[in-house]
Amino acid sequence: MIRLTGIVKRFGENTVLNGVDLDIPEGEVTALIGPSGSGKSTLLRTANLLEIPEAGTLEIGDARIVFAPDRKPPQAEILAMRRRTGMIFQNFQLFPHRSVADNVTEGLVTVWKWSADKARAHAMDLLDKVGMAHKADAWPATLSGGQQQRVAIARAIAASPKLLLCDEPTSALDPELAAEVVEVLGKLAGEGMTMLMATHDLRLADQIAHRVAFLDGGTIVEHGPPEEIFRHPTDPRTIRFVRTLL
Ligand code: ATP
Ligand code: MG
Repeated sequence: MIRLTGIVKRFGENTVLNGVDLDIPEGEVTALIGPSGSGKSTLLRTANLLEIPEAGTLEIGDARIVFAPDRKPPQAEILAMRRRTGMIFQNFQLFPHRSVADNVTEGLVTVWKWSADKARAHAMDLLDKVGMAHKADAWPATLSGGQQQRVAIARAIAASPKLLLCDEPTSALDPELAAEVVEVLGKLAGEGMTMLMATHDLRLADQIAHRVAFLDGGTIVEHGPPEEIFRHPTDPRTIRFVRTLL
């Protein structure tokens, strides 16, 4: 189980996350929806400790860190937790001066100390899986957005993370290219990759999410299967928000 409990994150006076509780069952995809500015990206960045929460507990598998205002965990603990996750972003964020294959091998070689040959072979398998093996030696800038995002996915899953965080993975893409990315994410979901995915894309959430969590006012207001959240929401805030999506 991946579990966030009582997560609080403030930026100055602005309390963005105000006690977020969220269980993400292993092997399932959870879509995170909510108004712009509700803290979806912040929650994803907190789940991999790019943002350090002021309070709360983060558990990924058998690793657990408790945060409190007077306790900042050691950097080594933070890095070890972060390495249990992979992340993809709206704007892909590939390393521009590295080939497609090197984007995928980089972390394996520098962080995980794999040999270059072993990393290359693994990268080729992953690029094949996302339909990008034929571009292994291309530069990111020569690829379409959909292709770049598929490479970013290969990079994010290279070290077999326990949790894949996806921040609006399709929202910078035209529908046709978004569909390629949805297909790849759907394939990963089918293989049992655990994901937490912030999205405004109702189709993406409906197609591949097992659960949908609605974030508003700093907490998870409602959480359940897509059909329940999208078609039979109960909280008035969820009802209002879902109406804006349809
Ligand atoms: P969107 O749907 O537009 O992507 P979001 O739900 O992802 O929105 P966040 O980007 O998490 O929302 O932002 C939530 C709030 O936190 C906003 O008020 C934002 O201004 C604030 N915020 C986010 N990151 C920082 C930061 N590094 N410093 C200060 N404030 C921040
Ligand atoms: Mg965001």
